[in-house]
Amino acid sequence: MIVGHRRGRLRPVLATAFLLAMVAGCSDDVAARPGRFASPDPGSVNTHWIRAPEGLVVIDTLRTPADAERAIAEIRKTGEPVAAILLTHSHPDHVGGAGAFHRAFPQAPIHASRSTARAMREDERGFYPLAHSANANFPAELTHPDRTFDDNAPLHVAGLDFETATFVGGESDTATAYYRPDTGDLYSGDLATGQVTPALIEGHSCGWLRVLDELARRFPAATTMHPGHGAPGPATELIAEQRRYLHRFRDLVGPAVAADSPEATTITTAEEASIIAELERTHPDHPPVADLPDLVAANIRAVGGELSTEDPTTCP
Ligand SMILES: [Zn+2]
Repeated sequence: MIVGHRRGRLRPVLATAFLLAMVAGCSDDVAARPGRFASPDPGSVNTHWIRAPEGLVVIDTLRTPADAERAIAEIRKTGEPVAAILLTHSHPDHVGGAGAFHRAFPQAPIHASRSTARAMREDERGFYPLAHSANANFPAELTHPDRTFDDNAPLHVAGLDFETATFVGGESDTATAYYRPDTGDLYSGDLATGQVTPALIEGHSCGWLRVLDELARRFPAATTMHPGHGAPGPATELIAEQRRYLHRFRDLVGPAVAADSPEATTITTAEEASIIAELERTHPDHPPVADLPDLVAANIRAVGGELSTEDPTTCP
């Protein structure tokens, strides 16, 4: 689906802004707004596009070539050429459509930070074969970036200047955020996402909380955050919402791995069921972000392992 702003409170605000702009004859402003396509579930992944002096800059490429084709059809309606493609991180749902984008826009280089390009090449956690086995539409052969830049280096593409920042050990092993200082827009991949059940299977919930603090410190002037899942929103609110989800998850799992719990650090079936029920009660309508069966149960196991070995005083 092409999305104005599907979820949350922003929809009426933006619809009003759109109408006011049209009434005022400012349709150029509307056309200049970032575009977004949100693929169907699981986890409804976003691809964003920005109008730049030399064409469009596309951010992230969706999970499958089929999803990418639908986004490409929307992007073509702008009538603008695509000048560059940027990747935020190596997770399958953001890079599986890269081949389809490359075939549609062969003139547009695919840019990634050195660490993201390396994570895609090495796939240490075996995510790509896993994604392909869970969803036959995920490509057997991945298309890799053809331009890499140093982690944290500024990036000039298609006539636009971006600041970039690399964050490690958070939602993914490495992730890049792209910031436009001229507009305050922050393209942050999955560093903070709205209303989805994230993948915590890397057991980095504490690392992710640290990364959220670093992100807020690194881009204090960011206004609108454009996440990899869910609607754009104020950067501070999306960061706070992600932080709340992670704290809630850790607070629920913690007692199940405490020394005095029924099977100490082993999470029993009853404990798992009660955590899942409680999450469903407090966070309904949070579709899983990954094509993995029982994502929540896998998250509980991973965070349980993390909590049973970490020093709680080191986590923000
Ligand atoms: Zn994602």
